[in-house]
Amino acid sequence: MIASPPQSRYNLDMPQKIIIVVGLGASGLMAAGTAAAAGAHVIGIDGQTYTGRKLLITGSGRCNVTNSASREDFIKAFGAGGKFLYGVFNQFFSPDLLKLLKTLGVDTVEERGGRLYPASQKSKDVRDALLNMCTAAGVELRLGQKVEQLVIEGGVCKGVLVAGKLTEADAVIVATGGKSYPLTGSVGSGYELARHAKHVIVTPVPSLVPFEVSESWVKELSGLALKNVELSLFHNGKQLAVAFGELLFTHFGVSGPIVLELSQCLVPILRQMWDSGHRDFQHWNLGMTAELNLKPALSATQIRDRLQREFDQNGKKNLGNILKTLLPSSLIPVFLKLSGMAEDKVGHQISAAERTQLQTLLTALPLTLTGLRPWEEAVVTAGGIKLKEVDPKTLESKLVSGLYFAGEVLDIQGDTGGYNLQAAFSTGYVAGHSAASQTIT
Ligand SMILES: Cc1cc2nc3c(=O)[nH]c(=O)nc-3n(C[C@H](O)[C@H](O)[C@H](O)COP(=O)(O)OP(=O)(O)OC[C@H]3O[C@@H](n4cnc5c(N)ncnc54)[C@H](O)[C@@H]3O)c2cc1C
Repeated sequence: MIASPPQSRYNLDMPQKIIIVVGLGASGLMAAGTAAAAGAHVIGIDGQTYTGRKLLITGSGRCNVTNSASREDFIKAFGAGGKFLYGVFNQFFSPDLLKLLKTLGVDTVEERGGRLYPASQKSKDVRDALLNMCTAAGVELRLGQKVEQLVIEGGVCKGVLVAGKLTEADAVIVATGGKSYPLTGSVGSGYELARHAKHVIVTPVPSLVPFEVSESWVKELSGLALKNVELSLFHNGKQLAVAFGELLFTHFGVSGPIVLELSQCLVPILRQMWDSGHRDFQHWNLGMTAELNLKPALSATQIRDRLQREFDQNGKKNLGNILKTLLPSSLIPVFLKLSGMAEDKVGHQISAAERTQLQTLLTALPLTLTGLRPWEEAVVTAGGIKLKEVDPKTLESKLVSGLYFAGEVLDIQGDTGGYNLQAAFSTGYVAGHSAASQTIT
């Protein structure tokens, strides 16, 4: 289905439906604009004094709006929650989003890995375009107001309470986001609203989040980014997952795309921890370790031969200099410290055992993971409103009629690369469209 144009289409013969959208982030702005364009009177309420605060910081301020991946690859990028999105993506997918953005004056460009960004490279242009769509369609904005409770009577959502005052509506769309980056306004309050409607909340845990490590040498490398490396994650010695790509050393540990990717496989472990009362994700005692392979493109034999050749050909050169052909210079002091080998040892003095030790450091540099960075640094929240209790075609609650959900408040979370924003926009569109088309009871 192609996205609706951003102008209002009022039908004067029908009573105008009133729809409240709680939260005006990526999904809420899309839901509000879509519902208003379909003829509803929409009241958009946000606890923040301006809209789309998180949207503005996405993609380091450049906003990776979506990905050119196929629908099947999109579904895969959401793991267990992916199947739920079939019906949603059938109604509004990446081509629809790009077309809508173009209509709103935002051209996009594709970059590495199919990631799409506004051509201006400014997330503000995406936020402003969606906000303009809302205002042009007549959305009534109520900013700096936090929704405290849903008003539910006889299994029907009748409105919301703000500062104890009732605002009535024919439908309410909850688009309050998750719990990560709480300064942007996503503080998990949507879970409380949904609990009041008797919805089950799958325990929210931080995901796409960096790791803290205990090795002190890591701090010396703060700022060093390594491309084409491989990181393996272990739990009590058992390998959980491997990721290939870019890693960044920081003052606290490791970050970067492959670290964020690997953090996703910890979700079940973190959830178990939380549910059993261990809630300090920054200081866990989980037996989590990692190994960094700096030369994943080479086999063990190739690395052994390469090292041997370097030592044979540079018999009179010192080890510090020889390692320059293999490593970024800031890593050399770390290698020397960890191997216990003297920098001025020359090539022909290096024994087979020492060569093997260097080979191990090159392919399995050990890291001890002591915890995650806090919620303030998690890109998404894993967990949220249980999907079985939401109609995947309309995003209406199966428990309370007239109540809809959109965005990260649902138990859906995807990889980095534009997947999460597309899910927010698509669920926002479907919730807005369904709420506006629902017959008033
Ligand atoms: C640093 C960072 C970078 C990211 N970059 C990307 C990227 O480039 N591409 C990508 O695909 N994804 C990215 N993401 C993820 C993406 O931003 C989120 O998945 C997406 O914004 C979720 O949209 P949402 O509408 O569900 O929630 P949000 O955008 O979090 O919006 C929720 C809104 O609800 C409001 N609210 C909450 N509770 C209430 C209440 N009780 N009453 C009233 N208002 C309320 C909040 O103030 C907020 O405005 C990034 C996330 C972070 C943190």
